[in-house]
Amino acid sequence: MKMCIACGMPMTRIADYPLYDISKNYCKHCANSDGNLVSFQEKLSALTAHYVQTYKMDKNFAEKTAYIVLKKLPAWRRSR
Ligand SMILES: [Zn+2]
Repeated sequence: MKMCIACGMPMTRIADYPLYDISKNYCKHCANSDGNLVSFQEKLSALTAHYVQTYKMDKNFAEKTAYIVLKKLPAWRRSR
């Protein structure tokens, strides 16, 4: 089983892949509508918004947390 390199989600079904393309190593949540990997900034702001909404985190704190979480993933190790 593969794990998304950009968010860590386990990809267990074909529907988890962008455009059902199982050759990709990232999930559909981390892809644009054309199937390409989103940018680090896009992923960072999406995850920040998710934390603010789900955990009622302060925006700055949510962004710091999102940054730390994303930097642990293979897709973003060299991004800033
Ligand atoms: Zn993903």
